[in-house]
Amino acid sequence: MFIMSEDSQRTQGRDAQSSNIMAGKAVAESVRTTLGPRGMDKMLVDSGGEVVITNDGATILEEMDIEHPAAQMIVEVADSQEEEVGDGTTTAAVIAGNLLGEAEDLIEQDVHATTIVEGYHEAAEIALEAIAEQVQEAEVDDDVLKQVAESSMTGKGTGGLTAESLAETVVEAVRHVETDDGVARDNVTVHTQIGASSNATELVPGIVVDEDPAHDGMPDEVEDASIAILDVELDVRTGEVDAEYAIDSIDQLNAAIDAEESELRGYAETIAESGADVVFTTDDVADRVASALAKEGVLLFDDIGSSDAADIASATGARRVGDLDDLETADFGEADRVRSENFGDDDLAFVEGGAAAEAVTVFVRGGTEHVVDELERAIGDALDVAATALESGEVVPGAGATEIAIADKVRQEAAGIEGRKQLAVDAFADAIDVVPRTLAANTGRDPIDSLVDLRAAHESEGRAGLVTDGEEVTIADPFEHGVVDPADVKREAVESATEAATMIARIDDVIAAE
Ligand code: ADP
Ligand code: MG
Repeated sequence: MFIMSEDSQRTQGRDAQSSNIMAGKAVAESVRTTLGPRGMDKMLVDSGGEVVITNDGATILEEMDIEHPAAQMIVEVADSQEEEVGDGTTTAAVIAGNLLGEAEDLIEQDVHATTIVEGYHEAAEIALEAIAEQVQEAEVDDDVLKQVAESSMTGKGTGGLTAESLAETVVEAVRHVETDDGVARDNVTVHTQIGASSNATELVPGIVVDEDPAHDGMPDEVEDASIAILDVELDVRTGEVDAEYAIDSIDQLNAAIDAEESELRGYAETIAESGADVVFTTDDVADRVASALAKEGVLLFDDIGSSDAADIASATGARRVGDLDDLETADFGEADRVRSENFGDDDLAFVEGGAAAEAVTVFVRGGTEHVVDELERAIGDALDVAATALESGEVVPGAGATEIAIADKVRQEAAGIEGRKQLAVDAFADAIDVVPRTLAANTGRDPIDSLVDLRAAHESEGRAGLVTDGEEVTIADPFEHGVVDPADVKREAVESATEAATMIARIDDVIAAE
């Protein structure tokens, strides 16, 4: 009796386990060299020839187009890490890969998968306790936030800009959107614009959209703007003239043109009389309407994207209006200033100050697309970690120090665990060591020697990480060098890596439909 289609493929037992583990390990291995401040970048070329240059774990894994289902689970580790805390994606993937590698060894030593899973879960609990012990006692103030932001950007392609100056902008942005209920991270956007040195990167107190004025004669700046957002077409609908008039004389043609004229004039008058001096509309605007409005000093942007309209509405407090006859003052949004500025081929609209300043935009400049793209990712991560650290108020030492502390505590506790599970708990500690080991390897140091030195320093001094400071790489207390990560980034990495590795290790039967 066949219960499966003859085309489906089935792998069982150890074969299934080892092929899954191998695939998961391979994926994790692929991002290992990017970890840390001296991590290298990867250039990814898709089938269409599109090039992405990045150091960001989640981006690499996403671009790699991974098909193997177990390997895909490592990609999900990076994704969930990105989603939950915004950073530590490489760390999480690399730990997951090493948990799998250790599991493979244990399976070869006849340790049952269930025992491995139990041991890993127990070790993960101990790891979380170790992380709690590493939390810095000092309050998370602006200086600490800057260190967190800077640590997350060190080694990223910041286009010659120092991570330090960017970190200041990032902290300013996060503080700006801090509320009693936490950090409104969604109110910070990153807008990239090619064509200037990355030094020109700045914080705009409001929002920036890719839109240009409908008419050259319009002002390029309006102060104390009353902003109307319309979803209305300000044009005569094509075909209307022919449909309504059977034109067979010059008089009738003139009448038709007059009717059209007065319809368009009506639009312009309604808007001008409403008191709105800046208008965004998602639909078309006839040239004659635009030019009439220009004469009235109204700044109008037509054909804007619906999501831009939504952003402007929510930032300025404007209500979108679908029928011009309904337009009233109560629908207007406010901003201190709306201006249009030209950047090479692009025109941008800046909606700044006043109500609009509830949102802020990190306006990223850079010489080339690759530079601004990588800057955008680095700043995105930095905003995430600064927001995470500000909300939770908990940071831990970076540079491998927290991982050294985790491995140490897990090993100590393993000694008191009975049976083969002890092997699994110990193996977990070995897997965590991959972080300091890789940081060492990526700085050209011997990983084994570094691990030995780090453990010794941890034993005698307490906190010990492999700190990169300019050209120097030394074993030191990361807090003293401002290398700090949010505690939540470490927690999430331990949890998501453990979850994926145990899930993959438990599988002993793979049934794939063709
Ligand atoms: P991830 O995707 O895991 O965030 P990164 O390439 O961003 O990978 O590297 C993060 C690691 O680099 C963290 O362990 C962090 O503590 C460490 N790190 C950041 N700055 C420094 C530094 N100056 N010296 C040593 N390690 C650092
Ligand atoms: Mg990072």
